[in-house]
Parts: sequence; C-alpha cells; structure tokens
Amino acid sequence: MDFKTILKEVYTDLLQTKSNGQPASYIPELANIDPDKFGMHYCSVNGEHYGLGDHQEKFSVQSIIKVISLCLAFKTEGVKIWKRVGVEPSGTPFNSLVQLEHEQGIPRNPFINAGAIVICDILLSQLDKPKEEFLNFVNQLALNSTIQYNPKIAASEKDHGYRNAALINMMKSFGNIENPIEDVLDFYYDICSIEMTCEELAQTFQLFANNGCIPSSKERVITTSQSKRINAIMQLCGFYDEAGEFSFKVGLPGKSGVGGGIVAIHPGEYTVAVWSPRLNKKGNSYKGIQALEMLTTKSELSIF
Ligand code: GLN
Repeated sequence: MDFKTILKEVYTDLLQTKSNGQPASYIPELANIDPDKFGMHYCSVNGEHYGLGDHQEKFSVQSIIKVISLCLAFKTEGVKIWKRVGVEPSGTPFNSLVQLEHEQGIPRNPFINAGAIVICDILLSQLDKPKEEFLNFVNQLALNSTIQYNPKIAASEKDHGYRNAALINMMKSFGNIENPIEDVLDFYYDICSIEMTCEELAQTFQLFANNGCIPSSKERVITTSQSKRINAIMQLCGFYDEAGEFSFKVGLPGKSGVGGGIVAIHPGEYTVAVWSPRLNKKGNSYKGIQALEMLTTKSELSIF
C-alpha cells in the first residue's frame, strides 16, 4: 500500500476544501490559533515517516494526552484503576455532568474529563514528582526531549474551568478523589496544556500500534494485553458522543483533543496524526475526521 501517495492525495484535496467550525474558545488561549492550520503525519511500525503541511508545528494536544496518562496509570497501578473508572462509552459530551451523580462518582471511562481527572488523582498519589515524571514519560515515548507544558494555556483553562471544578467536586463528594481538588485540577490542566507536533504525536502513539513496545527502540512500556485494552477504550470512547460515527467512518481506534488534533492507530501497521483547529459540535476536528475517513477509504484498510 502506497501511503505516501494516499496521504498526499488526502492532503491536497482537503487543503482546498473550506472547513466548517471554529477553534475551541472556552479556553480563551486556544482561540488565538490560526484556524486554518492543517498538518498530517503518518508513521508505520517499520519506521516509515511521511508528513505534510503544518505537521512539524506544535499545538495544544489537550485530551489526546488522556491516553498517555491512562497508559502511565495502568502501567504503575495495574487493574486497580478499574475500581475508580469504567470502560464503557459515555454517549455524552466530554465535559458532561449528567451521568456522574447517577453512577455515584465513578466516571464511565478515562477519556471523558471526569475519568481523566480520576486518573490524574491516581497519578498524584502514585508519583513522587508528578509533573516532572509525567513529562519524562511523554518524552520517553516520543523519543524526544523537547516536549513541554504550556503554562499560559494551563492558566487560561484554570481561569475558566468551572465545569471541571464541578465534576471533581461531585466525585470528591462520593469519595472518588484522594488528593486536594486544587492539586488534581492543576495537574490535569498541566497535562492538557502539553504541546506537540503531528510528527511527535504519531511517534508517541507507536507503542499502541506495536502491542505496548516502542518499535524503533524495542523498549517494552506496557504489556500486550494493556496495549490492546487501551486501544479498545480508544475505539469505544475516544471521540465521546461521536465515537460511533468515528468508528463507522474511519474504523480505527483514536483520540481527539479540543486543540484540533486527532491520533489514530492501525494496530500492527501504523499511527497517524492530523491537526486542524476548526471543531465540529462534538468538539472534534472537522477536517481531522474527514482526512482519516479518506485515508482508510482510499487505502481500504481499517481494523474491520
Ligand atoms: N482540557 C480540556 C477540558 O478539560 C480538554 C477537553 C478536550 O480536549 N476534549 O475541557
């Protein structure tokens, strides 16, 4: 399969297409971005890399990082984490409050905000220097040492994070948060503020295409079973109340963020990252989904 040609066709087609939607504005700092940025990067497990457009420009990865925080929590704490967060699709928006009271403060999955906040609480209890160790982990997966937090974005989100504050207070009332609320939210905003390029994201997610082992360094990070399970959660929960639509159109596990990024994984084959900041109503990148739909349709390869 000639992915280089397919990627180029997809990119050229979509570059000329006007995208609907706007960048996220509920985090004011994210609204300052040029909405028409567009980049794609493909990375096979055999080490082939192709990138196009703004694929080497850093952007705010936001919820994409929730896969990496889950990975670190699953690696360090094992199956105990599933007592505090579920693995079911939510069918609700990423920042929704409605299920949480019904379900006694146990979030449906680790990719909606409530679930990611619980994972942050677990990491805070587990790690000696959470901020530093988490960033080291990201850089270890990315085979890179330039990835950083963006304090301006974290502060901007903190100033407007009323919903996340509501979610964590509700969970604390049910006994599902151990650490002080302020500390957990600060850590959550920090990890969401991490900036990466499409190239770095495609590299960072390689272990999920290779049963938990980084293909180029041969380093095992998590077990095969843990890797398959994280992919299953991405497939079912990676796009919130658009997870079914993404499975239907794209047919790969993946994760989006309100910075306009999406990473998708074809286990055993490749990872691909797309960035286009204009979002649809579900908070997922318009053009990002279109690009991935075209990629798996043209290549006739998905997990199905
Ligand atoms: N940091 C964002 C929030 O908490 C992440 C949301 C997202 O990317 N879907 O709202």
